[in-house]
Amino acid sequence: MIVGVVRETAAGERRVALVPAGVAALKKAKLDVLVEVDAGLSAGFSNVAFSDVGAEMVTAADIAARADIVVGVQRPSLDLKANQIGIAVYDPLTFPENIPAASGATLFSLDLIPRTTRAQAMDVLSSQANLGGYLGVLIGATELSKILPMMTTAAGTIPPARALILGAGVAGLQAIATARRLGAIVSAYDVRAAVKEQVESLGARFVELPLETESAQDAGGYAKALGEEFYAKQRQLLGDVLAETDLVITTAAVPGMKAPILVTEAMAARMAPGSVIVDLAAERGGNCELTKPDEVVEYHGVRILGPLNLPSRLATNASQLFSKNMQTFLLNMIKEGQLNLNMEDPIVSGSLIAQGGQIVHTRVQEVLRSREAVRG
Ligand code: NAD
Repeated sequence: MIVGVVRETAAGERRVALVPAGVAALKKAKLDVLVEVDAGLSAGFSNVAFSDVGAEMVTAADIAARADIVVGVQRPSLDLKANQIGIAVYDPLTFPENIPAASGATLFSLDLIPRTTRAQAMDVLSSQANLGGYLGVLIGATELSKILPMMTTAAGTIPPARALILGAGVAGLQAIATARRLGAIVSAYDVRAAVKEQVESLGARFVELPLETESAQDAGGYAKALGEEFYAKQRQLLGDVLAETDLVITTAAVPGMKAPILVTEAMAARMAPGSVIVDLAAERGGNCELTKPDEVVEYHGVRILGPLNLPSRLATNASQLFSKNMQTFLLNMIKEGQLNLNMEDPIVSGSLIAQGGQIVHTRVQEVLRSREAVRG
């Protein structure tokens, strides 16, 4: 079996799907590995570092011609053939139209791997969101007109800044931990009441809103879409909390849906000038009404940032973690150097999105159908 690692071509993407340590692990499992020249450079991994562990450095055309399995962070830009396997983050619930199913290639999307205990080492959503949560706070801290920690100086004592994290999933929990380490007073809110303990264990206050949230979580541990009446009430209650906050980090998401609006224009206007909102849901439409993807919006002195693809800005660490996820997923499908696709395994069947020229994943099919219905 030959695995090909392509150089990422999406704008601003600095990560690489396998780092040298991942290549070494595949070689040990008797796989051959081709790496496109310069694939790792922007993530801090030289061509020599790859060839030192036994990778063959090649062109994209070589990978297209010779690889059985092509791996990428985002959708590989080279055209796969029917006898090839593609593994990447295809984001099929957001962009089902972009899946290159017609090629006939077998495609696996890492973001659809079920979030089970056994799949933890393959969970790219967690490994990358964690880094995003960290960097979101650092970006917010440098944009803020205040410092985060309390500081006692001869010229007076500066009180600690107040940070509020909206959405306490993987990114949110890391944001809480980071803001705490920097000395802020941190509060957090999530629609899933189950995270209260996790928030408190990180030294933050859990904001309790008098809202009915018992049905807010689905069987998979994700938030459910809750209806406009709920979101309107939520915004009204959150407005008071926001007015007391210097730095807001929003991370709220509902899989397969546009991100819920948690911060309206009116709520942002109630914040003190100089405050900052970092909207980590900008890629999914944003949690703040004012967010513009990849831009800084200034509104009544409040700055709203919608940074995109933060993990890519931490490309070395993000690639190391992604590579471990990829390696674990890949080796789960290999037995004695040969492909062994076990469709009884929920990790394999749950992430398979296309095969034989068709989209085969039920949730992706549903999203496609509902979009077609909307278009009429
Ligand atoms: P996500 O990115 O889908 O959402 C981020 C957070 O936003 C979630 O905590 C969600 O509850 C919250 N949210 C959604 N709507 C909201 C609203 N209106 N107001 C406030 N908050 C809102 O989620 P994620 O970070 O990827 O994690 C989702 C779940 O998966 C969590 O329960 C997490 O613990 C679980 N998980 C399990 C495993 C595992 O066991 N292997 C691994 C990773 C994550």
